[in-house]
Amino acid sequence: MNDILNTIRAYDEIVIHRHKNPDPDALGSQLGLRDILRMNFPDKTISAVGFDEPSLAFIGKMDRLSDETFKGKLVIVTDTANTPRIDDVRYQTGDFLIKIDHHPNDDAYGDLLAVDTTASSASEIIANFAFDHDLQISDDAARVLYAGIVGDTGRFLYPATTPKTLYTAAKLAEHTFDRAGLMREMDSFDMKIARLQGYVYENLEISPEGVARIFITQELMQANDVTDSETSAIVSAPGKIKEIQTWAIFVEQADGHFRVRMRSKAAPINEVAKRHAGGGHPLASGANSYSPQENDDIFQELRNNLVAFQK
Ligand code: AMP
Repeated sequence: MNDILNTIRAYDEIVIHRHKNPDPDALGSQLGLRDILRMNFPDKTISAVGFDEPSLAFIGKMDRLSDETFKGKLVIVTDTANTPRIDDVRYQTGDFLIKIDHHPNDDAYGDLLAVDTTASSASEIIANFAFDHDLQISDDAARVLYAGIVGDTGRFLYPATTPKTLYTAAKLAEHTFDRAGLMREMDSFDMKIARLQGYVYENLEISPEGVARIFITQELMQANDVTDSETSAIVSAPGKIKEIQTWAIFVEQADGHFRVRMRSKAAPINEVAKRHAGGGHPLASGANSYSPQENDDIFQELRNNLVAFQK
C-alpha cells in the first residue's frame, strides 16, 4: 500500500469509482477513501462518481463530474472485481489506474493493485490503509467504512469476519457517529420488501440436499413496486432457514435474462458462477442465465457442487 500512497501523492486530481448496483461496502470504501484523501490532502481535488442509489442515500452522495474525460487524473476503483462491473466507463480515460479490492483477483486490471481476499470488505482494506499510514479519518469516513464492513459481513455474521475485521470495526467505532441509528437504517426495510420477503419464504423451492431457488420476475417486481437493486434486501433471507445450505435468487432483467444472486453457508460456489458469466466470492457470487435450460443447469450444478463438498 506504500506504492498507492506515493501514487496518490503524485496526482492533484483523483477520481474514485466502485461497482454498479452499489451495496454499502462499495459506497463505504469509495466515500470513505474520498473523505480520508480530502482530509489529508486538502490541496487535491478528490471526487467519487457513479449512480446515486436511492435506497443507500443515508451513506452518502456522489459528485457530479461533467462530461469531461479523466485525462491526467488518477483513477482508483474500490470493491470491483472486474472491469465490466465498474460504474462509469470514464475510468478508462484516466492517466493511471489503481484497483483496491477483496474479491478473488480473476481480472487483474489496473496499473497498481491492492487485492486482499482475506479482508472481509473493501472498507476494511481502506480503513487499514489509513491506520497503517497514520492518515486522519473524519467521523463521517469512519461511519461509512463501518457501514461497509457491517454490510459485507452481514453484521459480523459471515465467515469472512476475522479478528482483524472486528479490531478494525472497533477502531472505527471509537469515532463519533450514531452507530445505533446507522445499524437501524441498515436493518430496516419498507413494507413492500417485507411482502417480497414473505413471497420468498412462501415460494422457495428446496432440493433434498439443501439447495434453494426462487424466481423474482419482472411482473412480481412491478406488482410489488420493487427495483432490481432493492432485491438485495432479501438475498440473505433464505440463509436463515436451517435446512438451506446454498441458495440462488434468479432476478429477471428487463431484457428477459436472469441475474442470479448466489449464496452459500460453506460450499464454495464461485466456480459455478464463473461458468455462467459471473464470479465473486467463494460464498457470495453472481451469475447470469439466458434461458430456462440454463436456470435449471445452474440449480443442478449447485446441487452437484453441494453433494461433492459434503463428501
Ligand atoms: P450480488 O448477488 O450482486 O450481491 O453479488 C455477489 C457477489 O458476486 C459480489 O461480490 C459481486 O462482486 C459478485 N458478482 C456478481 N455478479 C457478478 C458478475 N456478473 N461477474 C463477476 N462477479 C459478480
